[in-house]
Amino acid sequence: MPTAERLRGEPVAAEIRADVRDRVRELDERGVTPTLGTVLMSDDPADERFVALKHAACRDLDIASRDVRIDPGAPAERLHQAIDRLCADPEIDGVFVQIPLPDHVALAEVRRRLDPATDVDCLSFANLGRLVRGDPRYLPATSAAVRRLLTANDVSIEGEDVAIVGRSEIVGKPLANLLLHDAPDGNATVTVCHSRTTDLGAVTRWADIVVTAVGVPGLVDDSMLSPGVTVVDVSANRIESESGEDTQVVGDVDFESAAAVAGAITPVPGGVGPVTLAMLVSNVVLAAERRADGEG
Ligand code: NAP
Repeated sequence: MPTAERLRGEPVAAEIRADVRDRVRELDERGVTPTLGTVLMSDDPADERFVALKHAACRDLDIASRDVRIDPGAPAERLHQAIDRLCADPEIDGVFVQIPLPDHVALAEVRRRLDPATDVDCLSFANLGRLVRGDPRYLPATSAAVRRLLTANDVSIEGEDVAIVGRSEIVGKPLANLLLHDAPDGNATVTVCHSRTTDLGAVTRWADIVVTAVGVPGLVDDSMLSPGVTVVDVSANRIESESGEDTQVVGDVDFESAAAVAGAITPVPGGVGPVTLAMLVSNVVLAAERRADGEG
């Protein structure tokens, strides 16, 4: 029988949204409407859903949003032009590019083009550099969500051993940097694992906190966890039923077995996802506040 405390995302997301609502009201009194521009170059229903959720979150909080779609078969230049236009638009505070991009589009070029002032998910080289230095302009939403879920649930990070499974440029690497920051909600000892890690279980069993961002359902189970460990499962893997009629969303962690060993664990769905969304809209409002204050 699972015993671990559930680290649910919704209460944490609600707290962030309440703060965002207050800040949007203050901006409104100054005649400013925060505005997010998203760019989607995919026809994968999952990506379309992620983008739709961002616009719904904005609507709910009186944040304006613009939805730019590029045919996934179009040349990369079309995406570049869309990004350039949004970054140059004085009405747009935050620009978000949905990843993954088609194979013929280089992520590095997107990172280079994004304007750091409107790059609210910390994708640009300039903002990534600041994150690594420990002086982030905007926190990458997913990494910030993982940290916030931990601190909101009084899970200590400082001095703890953290195993991050997955070294992607979107989740694993930024998160490792964030948890290394010299701050009370950082100062972790971080090990980042990937597909060539020889003994994944040895690393995860050693950890006080295990974060998974891989995309492989059931990769981590109870045999790879030490009793009382905190488990944060970032993944949202969609599994279709044999008939193709139903889709289930699961993480990388075998929830039932892990919950019997862990001290605390995030559910999937309902863990990191809602907090990520709230963190992103909070960054859009931060960008608008900076613009209103004349800061870059
Ligand atoms: P990704 O770019 O595909 O990266 C996956 C990582 O997992 C890679 O570093 C890969 O190693 C590693 N990996 C693959 N197989 C492994 C294995 N058997 N053992 C250990 N490591 C292994 O994925 P991503 O974009 O980071 O996304 C990961 C998951 O997070 C997905 O399910 C995605 O939907 C989810 N996600 C959630 C949020 C949220 O806010 N909730 C946000 C973004 C992504 P190599 O580098 O060696 O290939």
